Amino acid sequence: MKAVLDHVGIAVKDLAAALAFYRDALGLDIEAPEEVASQRVRAHFLPVGEAKLELLEATAPDSAIAKYVEKRGPGLHHITLRVDDINAAVAQLKARGVRLIDEQPRPGAEHSLVAFIHPASAHGVLVELKQSTIQSTIQSAIRNPQSAIQRFTVGDLELISVSDGFIRLDGGSMFGAIPKPLWEKKAPADACNRITMAMRPLVVRGARTLLIDAGVGSKESAKFHDIYGIDRSRSLDVTMAEAGVRPEDIDIVLASHLHFDHAGGFTYRDADGRIRPTFPRAQYIVRRGEWEDATHTHERNRASYLADNYLPLADTGVLQLVDEDATIMPGVKVRRTGGHCMHHQIVWIESKGKTAAFAADLMPTLAHAPDVWMSGFDLYPMDTLAAKKQFAREAIEKETLVFFEHDPAVAAGYIREQNGTRIVQPAS
Ligand SMILES: [Zn+2]
Ligand SMILES: [Zn+2]
Repeated sequence: MKAVLDHVGIAVKDLAAALAFYRDALGLDIEAPEEVASQRVRAHFLPVGEAKLELLEATAPDSAIAKYVEKRGPGLHHITLRVDDINAAVAQLKARGVRLIDEQPRPGAEHSLVAFIHPASAHGVLVELKQSTIQSTIQSAIRNPQSAIQRFTVGDLELISVSDGFIRLDGGSMFGAIPKPLWEKKAPADACNRITMAMRPLVVRGARTLLIDAGVGSKESAKFHDIYGIDRSRSLDVTMAEAGVRPEDIDIVLASHLHFDHAGGFTYRDADGRIRPTFPRAQYIVRRGEWEDATHTHERNRASYLADNYLPLADTGVLQLVDEDATIMPGVKVRRTGGHCMHHQIVWIESKGKTAAFAADLMPTLAHAPDVWMSGFDLYPMDTLAAKKQFAREAIEKETLVFFEHDPAVAAGYIREQNGTRIVQPAS
């Protein structure tokens, strides 16, 4: 189990006196207090680097903190370790015969799930385990096989969101100029500061059968999988098969762009070590400018482009380059956004007055819905900003079903503005 120190809990008898020391004498900042009604306690957090001090003030005489102070006086009360998966942690401890105060995780402060370990098992220290609730929402989505395959109808078209599993990228990079205290509430980071993102290609069935993007694929090494925390336990071949779509059913593979988390699945390595197109009947459509960029990389974008993902397409004659915002098949049109890379494109889908859009890396997760929440990977952030404003306006106006390729929990939803705040309402 990986754990990081989250905070140190200090039981206080006289809050004003405690603040005079911790806030005023030490000069620490203090956050707004939080009431934990179930424990009859008020928590005051003071950030100290990556961790916090938590001053615990009893709000009723029968509170555990009141009893603690009465018995032993004010002082160190507990330490809290943050874990990625509290249910797994509790199960592991139980299996080792560790005595737990909470056999089941329960709601705690700061929108979290917590479980206390008995001091008898922790050498005299009360140890609290903690996991943020958003983290557990993401985990249950990852574990839920239904989240990997979701079907939608847009007019005459059938849309099937499939999955190539999960990838972890540095949270700081994924949110660029947004400070960590803000983004980690929406996308909790692991011990290596990485956030979990899905890879969700989209199958569109209409006049023809089209696949947009194809995840990271199977060609990369164990080391690569480790660096990017790749989890392909339910990969694209598996989820497509479960959705009833065979590789030979795909007529067209459409690339939003050629970064490895989107184009990796375009090819595979056969038993003889040769790299072949994954979809044997498909024409692969790539924007010409993106093809040029991917085949002429520079220091800044080189790590994102792996030639085995796309060069074999040209060699086997299945590559088709498009120059403009073309219609790929009836109801399916690409639109260049730039921003993320110069020729990044999104896909607009329209049938019988209904619209959907595949936002790719323009709005990769729900957390990226606000205009300025954009990735530090974007090569042209001001272009991202302009494209995103226009995209959101249009999506709201048309009630567009938007597909979020990298969101760990939500495949698609509707963008809304509420009192000046942009939110996404997940589609069921
Ligand atoms: Zn990308
Ligand atoms: Zn991406």
